[in-house]
Amino acid sequence: MKYNLSQFKDIVKIDTNIGGSQMKHKCYISFKLEDKDYKQYIQNELDVDMIDKSLNEPIDSEDEDYIMRKIREDYLSDSTVTIFIIGERSSESLGWNEQRFIKRELQASLYNGSNNDRNGILGIVLPSMTDKIYLGSHTCNVCGKIHETLDLTDDTVIREFGRNYFIPINKCAWADEDRYCILTTWDNFVNNPNAYIDQAFEKRDEPIADKVRVRP
Ligand SMILES: [Zn+2]
Repeated sequence: MKYNLSQFKDIVKIDTNIGGSQMKHKCYISFKLEDKDYKQYIQNELDVDMIDKSLNEPIDSEDEDYIMRKIREDYLSDSTVTIFIIGERSSESLGWNEQRFIKRELQASLYNGSNNDRNGILGIVLPSMTDKIYLGSHTCNVCGKIHETLDLTDDTVIREFGRNYFIPINKCAWADEDRYCILTTWDNFVNNPNAYIDQAFEKRDEPIADKVRVRP
Protein backbone atom coordinates (compact mmCIF):
# COMPACT_ATOMS: atom_id res chain seq x y z
CA MET A 1 0.00 0.00 0.00
CA LYS A 2 1.26 3.46 -0.84
CA TYR A 3 0.70 6.43 1.41
CA ASN A 4 0.52 10.01 0.35
CA LEU A 5 2.83 11.48 2.94
CA SER A 6 1.53 15.01 2.99
CA GLN A 7 -2.06 13.86 3.32
CA PHE A 8 -1.43 11.21 5.96
CA LYS A 9 1.47 12.81 7.75
CA ASP A 10 -0.05 12.38 11.18
CA ILE A 11 -0.94 8.75 10.61
CA VAL A 12 2.55 7.94 9.38
CA LYS A 13 4.03 9.60 12.43
CA ILE A 14 1.96 7.60 14.86
CA ASP A 15 2.33 4.21 13.20
CA THR A 16 6.02 3.44 13.56
CA ASN A 17 5.61 0.26 11.52
CA ILE A 18 5.17 2.17 8.31
CA GLY A 19 8.40 2.82 6.41
CA GLY A 20 10.88 3.72 9.12
CA SER A 21 13.08 5.63 6.70
CA GLN A 22 10.20 7.97 5.89
CA MET A 23 9.75 8.96 9.50
CA LYS A 24 11.42 12.24 10.24
CA HIS A 25 12.45 13.19 13.73
CA LYS A 26 11.63 16.70 14.83
CA CYS A 27 14.70 18.85 15.40
CA TYR A 28 15.57 21.87 17.50
CA ILE A 29 18.45 23.97 16.18
CA SER A 30 20.95 25.53 18.57
CA PHE A 31 23.10 28.14 16.85
CA LYS A 32 24.88 31.44 17.31
CA LEU A 33 23.32 34.48 15.66
CA GLU A 34 26.43 34.78 13.48
CA ASP A 35 25.47 31.45 11.88
CA LYS A 36 21.81 32.17 11.28
CA ASP A 37 22.17 31.84 7.49
CA TYR A 38 22.94 28.15 7.98
CA LYS A 39 19.96 27.70 10.26
CA GLN A 40 17.78 29.37 7.63
CA TYR A 41 19.20 27.14 4.93
CA ILE A 42 18.22 24.07 6.93
CA GLN A 43 14.79 25.54 7.46
CA ASN A 44 14.12 26.63 3.89
CA GLU A 45 16.14 24.34 1.65
CA LEU A 46 16.38 20.98 3.39
CA ASP A 47 13.74 18.37 4.07
CA VAL A 48 14.12 18.67 7.85
CA ASP A 49 11.25 18.73 10.33
CA MET A 50 12.19 21.48 12.79
CA ILE A 51 10.94 23.75 15.53
CA ASP A 52 11.65 27.40 14.79
CA LYS A 53 12.46 28.71 18.26
CA SER A 54 15.54 30.01 20.03
CA LEU A 55 16.28 30.68 23.65
CA ASN A 56 16.96 34.41 23.80
CA GLU A 57 16.14 35.36 27.35
CA PRO A 58 17.30 33.69 30.55
CA ILE A 59 14.88 31.61 32.62
CA ASP A 60 14.64 33.48 35.91
CA SER A 61 15.08 30.82 38.59
CA GLU A 62 17.64 29.42 41.02
CA ASP A 63 16.21 25.94 40.54
CA GLU A 64 18.30 24.16 37.91
CA ASP A 65 15.75 21.41 37.37
CA TYR A 66 13.03 23.98 36.87
CA ILE A 67 15.17 25.80 34.28
CA MET A 68 15.78 22.56 32.40
CA ARG A 69 12.12 21.56 32.45
CA LYS A 70 11.00 25.02 31.41
CA ILE A 71 13.35 25.16 28.41
CA ARG A 72 12.29 21.66 27.39
CA GLU A 73 8.63 22.56 27.61
CA ASP A 74 8.67 26.05 26.12
CA TYR A 75 11.40 25.74 23.51
CA LEU A 76 12.39 22.17 22.73
CA SER A 77 8.79 20.92 23.11
CA ASP A 78 8.31 17.74 21.07
CA SER A 79 11.70 17.73 19.33
CA THR A 80 13.80 14.59 19.77
CA VAL A 81 17.07 15.72 18.19
CA THR A 82 19.03 18.93 18.77
CA ILE A 83 21.21 20.15 15.93
CA PHE A 84 24.17 22.14 17.25
CA ILE A 85 25.67 24.35 14.54
CA ILE A 86 29.40 24.65 15.22
CA GLY A 87 30.77 27.93 13.90
CA GLU A 88 33.55 30.31 14.82
CA ARG A 89 31.65 31.67 17.85
CA SER A 90 30.58 28.34 19.42
CA SER A 91 33.50 27.72 21.80
CA GLU A 92 33.50 27.40 25.57
CA SER A 93 36.48 29.77 25.78
CA LEU A 94 34.31 32.75 24.80
CA GLY A 95 32.75 32.53 28.25
CA TRP A 96 29.40 32.05 29.96
CA ASN A 97 27.86 35.38 29.03
CA GLU A 98 28.54 34.88 25.34
CA GLN A 99 27.43 31.25 25.37
CA ARG A 100 24.69 31.23 27.99
CA PHE A 101 21.89 30.52 25.54
CA ILE A 102 23.52 27.72 23.55
CA LYS A 103 24.82 26.14 26.79
CA ARG A 104 21.32 26.18 28.25
CA GLU A 105 19.86 24.83 25.01
CA LEU A 106 22.28 21.92 24.99
CA GLN A 107 21.88 21.26 28.71
CA ALA A 108 18.11 21.14 28.39
CA SER A 109 18.52 18.90 25.33
CA LEU A 110 20.61 16.46 27.38
CA TYR A 111 18.31 16.65 30.39
CA ASN A 112 16.14 13.61 30.97
CA GLY A 113 12.80 14.88 32.26
CA SER A 114 9.91 12.70 33.29
CA ASN A 115 7.64 12.14 30.26
CA ASN A 116 10.07 14.29 28.31
CA ASP A 117 13.21 12.36 27.38
CA ARG A 118 16.55 13.82 26.42
CA ASN A 119 17.28 14.66 22.80
CA GLY A 120 19.91 13.15 20.56
CA ILE A 121 22.63 15.67 19.70
CA LEU A 122 23.97 16.26 16.20
CA GLY A 123 26.94 18.62 15.83
CA ILE A 124 27.45 20.11 12.39
CA VAL A 125 30.87 21.59 11.68
CA LEU A 126 30.57 24.64 9.44
CA PRO A 127 33.09 25.04 6.58
CA SER A 128 35.00 27.78 8.42
CA MET A 129 35.65 25.34 11.29
CA THR A 130 36.45 22.14 9.39
CA ASP A 131 40.24 22.62 9.44
CA LYS A 132 40.18 23.61 13.11
CA ILE A 133 38.28 20.48 14.22
CA TYR A 134 39.29 17.75 11.77
CA LEU A 135 43.04 17.60 12.30
CA GLY A 136 43.73 14.46 10.26
CA SER A 137 44.92 11.26 11.92
CA HIS A 138 47.72 9.91 14.06
CA THR A 139 49.29 6.53 14.76
CA CYS A 140 48.35 5.46 18.26
CA ASN A 141 51.27 4.71 20.57
CA VAL A 142 49.10 2.25 22.54
CA CYS A 143 47.52 0.04 19.88
CA GLY A 144 49.53 1.03 16.81
CA LYS A 145 46.41 1.70 14.76
CA ILE A 146 45.44 4.95 13.06
CA HIS A 147 43.02 7.18 14.97
CA GLU A 148 41.27 10.28 13.73
CA THR A 149 42.41 13.47 15.45
CA LEU A 150 39.61 15.86 16.38
CA ASP A 151 39.82 19.12 18.30
CA LEU A 152 36.59 19.33 20.29
CA THR A 153 38.10 21.25 23.19
CA ASP A 154 37.11 24.53 24.81
CA ASP A 155 38.76 26.29 21.86
CA THR A 156 36.21 24.97 19.39
CA VAL A 157 32.98 23.90 21.14
CA ILE A 158 31.06 24.35 24.39
CA ARG A 159 31.66 21.57 26.92
CA GLU A 160 28.12 20.26 26.72
CA PHE A 161 29.07 19.00 23.28
CA GLY A 162 32.75 18.12 23.74
CA ARG A 163 32.22 16.13 26.95
CA ASN A 164 29.36 14.12 25.51
CA TYR A 165 31.29 13.38 22.34
CA PHE A 166 34.49 12.32 24.09
CA ILE A 167 32.91 10.58 27.07
CA PRO A 168 35.75 9.40 29.34
CA ILE A 169 36.83 5.81 28.57
CA ASN A 170 39.58 3.42 29.65
CA LYS A 171 41.01 2.72 26.23
CA CYS A 172 43.03 4.53 23.60
CA ALA A 173 40.24 5.40 21.18
CA TRP A 174 36.51 5.95 20.99
CA ALA A 175 34.27 3.61 19.02
CA ASP A 176 30.90 4.79 17.74
CA GLU A 177 29.13 3.23 20.72
CA ASP A 178 31.36 5.19 23.15
CA ARG A 179 29.91 8.49 22.00
CA TYR A 180 26.58 10.12 22.65
CA CYS A 181 26.88 13.07 20.28
CA ILE A 182 27.04 12.62 16.52
CA LEU A 183 29.43 14.82 14.54
CA THR A 184 29.54 15.61 10.85
CA THR A 185 30.47 18.38 8.45
CA TRP A 186 28.07 20.81 6.85
CA ASP A 187 28.70 19.31 3.39
CA ASN A 188 27.96 15.76 4.52
CA PHE A 189 24.90 16.87 6.43
CA VAL A 190 23.40 18.74 3.49
CA ASN A 191 23.78 15.65 1.28
CA ASN A 192 21.68 13.47 3.55
CA PRO A 193 20.37 15.38 6.56
CA ASN A 194 17.93 12.81 7.88
CA ALA A 195 20.54 10.01 7.93
CA TYR A 196 22.52 12.00 10.52
CA ILE A 197 19.40 13.06 12.38
CA ASP A 198 18.42 9.37 12.60
CA GLN A 199 21.84 8.46 14.04
CA ALA A 200 21.48 11.11 16.73
CA PHE A 201 17.92 9.98 17.47
CA GLU A 202 18.97 6.36 17.97
CA LYS A 203 21.56 7.29 20.61
CA ARG A 204 18.77 8.16 23.03
CA ASP A 205 18.04 4.48 23.62
CA GLU A 206 21.61 3.20 23.56
CA PRO A 207 23.55 2.29 26.75
CA ILE A 208 25.90 5.27 26.27
CA ALA A 209 22.94 7.57 27.04
CA ASP A 210 23.47 6.65 30.71
CA LYS A 211 26.91 8.27 30.63
CA VAL A 212 25.69 11.65 29.42
CA ARG A 213 26.56 14.64 31.59
CA VAL A 214 24.08 17.53 31.45
CA ARG A 215 26.32 20.22 33.00
CA PRO A 216 29.96 19.25 32.42
ZN1 LIG B 1 44.88 3.18 19.89
